[in-house]
Amino acid sequence: MSVPQVLAGIREAEAAAGRPSGSARLVAVTKGQDLASIEAHVLAHGAFPLGEGRAQELRDKAALRPEQEWHFLGPLQRNKVKYLRPVTLVHSLEEVWQAEAIAQAAQTWGRAPDVLLQLHNGEAQKHGVAPEQLPEVLRQVRATGLNVRGLMVMAPDAAAPEVRRVFEDAARRAHDLGLSELSMGMSGDYPLAVAAGSTLVRVGRSLFT
Ligand SMILES: *Cc1c(COP(=O)(O)O)cnc(C)c1O
Repeated sequence: MSVPQVLAGIREAEAAAGRPSGSARLVAVTKGQDLASIEAHVLAHGAFPLGEGRAQELRDKAALRPEQEWHFLGPLQRNKVKYLRPVTLVHSLEEVWQAEAIAQAAQTWGRAPDVLLQLHNGEAQKHGVAPEQLPEVLRQVRATGLNVRGLMVMAPDAAAPEVRRVFEDAARRAHDLGLSELSMGMSGDYPLAVAAGSTLVRVGRSLFT
């Protein structure tokens, strides 16, 4: 697959769901890819936000492409928050202390990234905020001053009906909380995510193979 093929798949899923064309945006997940590969496979096809999952890798690449829009979507440790300076959107916020640390660092950066709260997907050993804690975590994260734009969820390793249920549940919760951004869908499941209302599709592997 390639960026044009993935974009065509997104446009097709939007149309099938009766959604406006362009209402689901592609975030190109570039973890593990060097800049030459990112140029050739992604940026040659247009300007897309690039999503990184490891904070040091993000810092190193963003230093060489400061004009580029960078997103962070991996697990975030306290001592790595300082590497997020170039980031405009954090997809994977799951703890209030992470928001506090980002908000504090942002005072020295002069600018804060927006954030999405990662929703737990029901699988054991996975990241994310438990659904019942979502309203309280949202309140506390907002109290740090960060702008919470929406929710992110990873599909469980399951068959399509269960994946669809997880995406639809996340969409309903975002709607109920008045949050407009929904980061859902990866290489294996982005058509289902777009059908359920995803606005940010995080595709990696498919863009590079
Ligand atoms: C790696 C990753 C992706 C992209 O997954 P692919 O299967 O490579 O498309 C999306 N979201 C997160 C959080 C990731 O870590």
